[in-house]
Amino acid sequence: MPTMISVEEALEHILSHFQPLEPERVEILDALDRVLAEDIHSDMDIPPFNNSAMDGYALRAADTAGASREGPVTLRVLADLAAGHTTDVVVEPGTAVRIMTGAPVPAGADAVVRFEETSEGLNGLGKRINGLVEVYKEVSVGENIRLAGEDIRQGELVLPRGTLIRPQEIGVLASLGRQEVWVIRRPRVAILATGDELVDISEPVAPGKIRNSNEYSTAALVRRYGGVPIRLGIARDTPEDLTAKIRAGLAQKVDLFLTSAGVSVGEYDVVKDVLAAEGEIRFWQVCMKPGKPLAFGVIQGVPLLGLPGNPVSVMVSFEEFARPAILKMLGKTKLAKPTVRVILEEEVTNSGRRHFMRAWVTKRDGRYYARTTGAQGSGILTSMVRANALVIVPEGEVRVQAGETLEAQMLDWPEEVF
Ligand code: AMP
Ligand code: MG
Repeated sequence: MPTMISVEEALEHILSHFQPLEPERVEILDALDRVLAEDIHSDMDIPPFNNSAMDGYALRAADTAGASREGPVTLRVLADLAAGHTTDVVVEPGTAVRIMTGAPVPAGADAVVRFEETSEGLNGLGKRINGLVEVYKEVSVGENIRLAGEDIRQGELVLPRGTLIRPQEIGVLASLGRQEVWVIRRPRVAILATGDELVDISEPVAPGKIRNSNEYSTAALVRRYGGVPIRLGIARDTPEDLTAKIRAGLAQKVDLFLTSAGVSVGEYDVVKDVLAAEGEIRFWQVCMKPGKPLAFGVIQGVPLLGLPGNPVSVMVSFEEFARPAILKMLGKTKLAKPTVRVILEEEVTNSGRRHFMRAWVTKRDGRYYARTTGAQGSGILTSMVRANALVIVPEGEVRVQAGETLEAQMLDWPEEVF
């Protein structure tokens, strides 16, 4: 009988076998959701020049002293300057340049007054007679001007290595002119389903057979969390087929090997025998439900996680053990699933192991509420379909009443940023 260990013990042991993988250079869009493996310094100021924050008139603030609707100041308009263009015109006292948002502030000007505060009016349709404009408001030096380098200074460390790349980081990389960037590479994750009862989704379901859903749910999880799934199909419960498929998978240079099924107690022992023969594998009973049977070890230098076979168990075990391993290989540091405190809407009972109950969490008046998704059998995959969270009933808690508070892992917040 394998020893019963806690979720934390299993996770700690598993994670000790993983390190961040080496970097690779990718186009910046492919860096999304990955971890930066270089320091990004700026070789320029951003914005590169002082520019107008508004559509209006660039002028000398001193010229607007005392200006109001009743007593406007009249300035001579020297030029019209659109974004993307420059001018040699110098704004002297008593003059202004009509300027669009993003256009460089011309020499001599030290402020911009918005169209709305001039005779040009809100939509630029007002009077502008004989190259003159009336200004109705006093502006101060620097008003409506975005200064060179106010966002990023030349030489500044903008994004340190270890930064998780989100869309905004990609925008910053683009503004720095970076087309490619070094990030931690994605782990390649082999997925091998085992079982004589399995048929692929392209096959008819003969008597006694079921479709191989684990391969697909697991591959989707690998992809969701940033790995590259390498699908190896189905291994039959024979030593020859299992051994061949495991070796074929190892030949594909994978960073993590996942199997499903064949590791439970009382299981016909082929999978366990083959795993034990091929490498250093431990067989555990983890104090959790679903997902009690779990195998972990190393085969030819590759960590192998033997997940349980039931369609819900395989997903829950993946979330608890394979996901953090993948995130760690990706160089991420927040490995725990995002959780919220939820108020139970119904009483739940538990066997004594830590129960990951499929639940639907809703938010009302700033509080989270959870109700379970019905039958919690580990073969009932639609209990996952109806769930957006796993409510955790701690080990030892046999009954939790409606209204009590528990922790819930959110399934649909895949990011580890919480
Ligand atoms: P086992 O761990 O081999 O005892 O499998 C536990 C249960 O999971 C059995 O009912 C299997 O038929 C089922 N199962 C195993 N592998 C898969 C799979 N790839 N897809 C769907 N169900 C599976
Ligand atoms: Mg089996």
